[in-house]
Amino acid sequence: MDSILVVNAGSSSVKFQVFAVESEGALRRLIKGQVDGIGSRPRLRASGAGNDPMADRAYPIETIPDVPAAMQVAGEWLRNEARIHPLAVGHRVVHGGPDYVRPILVDHGVVARLERFVTLAPLHQPHNLAPIRSILANFPTIPQVACFDTAFHRTHDALADHYAIPHQLHAEGVRRYGFHGLSYEYISRTLPQIAPDIAKRRVIVAHLGSGASMCAMKNGLSVESTMGFTALDGLPMGTRPGQLDPGVVLYLLSEKGMTASKVQDFLYRDCGLKGLSGVSNDMRELEASLDPQAKLAVDYFVYRIGLNAGMLAAALQGIDAFVFTAGIGENSSGIRARVAEQLGWLGVALDPAENTRHSRLISAKTSLIPVYVVPTDEELMIAQHTLTLLMNGQSPNSRHERVS
Ligand code: ADP
Repeated sequence: MDSILVVNAGSSSVKFQVFAVESEGALRRLIKGQVDGIGSRPRLRASGAGNDPMADRAYPIETIPDVPAAMQVAGEWLRNEARIHPLAVGHRVVHGGPDYVRPILVDHGVVARLERFVTLAPLHQPHNLAPIRSILANFPTIPQVACFDTAFHRTHDALADHYAIPHQLHAEGVRRYGFHGLSYEYISRTLPQIAPDIAKRRVIVAHLGSGASMCAMKNGLSVESTMGFTALDGLPMGTRPGQLDPGVVLYLLSEKGMTASKVQDFLYRDCGLKGLSGVSNDMRELEASLDPQAKLAVDYFVYRIGLNAGMLAAALQGIDAFVFTAGIGENSSGIRARVAEQLGWLGVALDPAENTRHSRLISAKTSLIPVYVVPTDEELMIAQHTLTLLMNGQSPNSRHERVS
């Protein structure tokens, strides 16, 4: 059976999914798995399409000290036990820099170019590239496709992607990129089936998960995003602060004596809902908690979504629909209700029963703006891109595009 392997590698986990390629290029999910606890308590888990368990094994730390080792263990399990021999592998790569506007077939030259963006996403890019490199070394004939979280936002007007800093820094890549692009692209492709009348109009999509951002779309294309140079900006997240005056960073450096790497760790791991609440980074725990700091964290999250929606509505010069997606957006009717209240001034009103049922359309009939819940599927998006590039058979270099 023909299949596509999708790999999403982070610092402590390698997630993977396998899709069967069916007639006329349709994709069917076969396996979902991950190796997590890399370098601490490594564990391989995998399940089939109906969530039936296929593997659950712990490994000694020496067996899986890093991402390449995790990829090797996952690859051996896929080949030897699940009997998967993929036609191609699609990878999530967080940063495509200013150049890549769509997914690309990778070779050593492309990997070298993507290395340049390690400094723009130091906590993600090296881990994303590690499995690409190990598959290139061990299985050089398997086509690999890199799918970027930044690419969907390359339709922004140049003005939207600037910071007010000297041009030289912009030229070397210090600019607003936007992230969660694979999720927004999936929503953009799905909306025409759900709501054909609004899919081409002005839509704000709120991707609310452990990472959170919002995207303003017009005609299915991104025109503005709450995230910028890195995935730290914009909305507060599980452990990241979202928008922060750069003066706070200067204060941490000069007054608290923190080194740059301490500040980096602090901003990625100790802030956001976790830092503000002192309770948890998990929205479920915060919603259930009676702790006043947990309440403050939830209030702040909702308030900032409202503020950012106003900014995106200004970028779009109006709004015709609002979409919730990702872990919190898809599952928390409480957060959706509170966000809708914040958007009341725009004429948004929810139907409480439809919201509680997690229906596709959750706005009241009287709402001036329809509100949707659309589950995202970044892995399917990667598998689709991979299959498309495979069928088109383009060489890596022909996919290298500049937009500026
Ligand atoms: P990521 O892919 O960025 O890791 P997800 O999109 O899976 O994140 O979202 C994970 C977050 O979604 C969890 O941290 C949790 O806070 C939140 N979440 C999941 N289910 C619920 C729920 N029923 N109610 C509230 N929050 C939820």
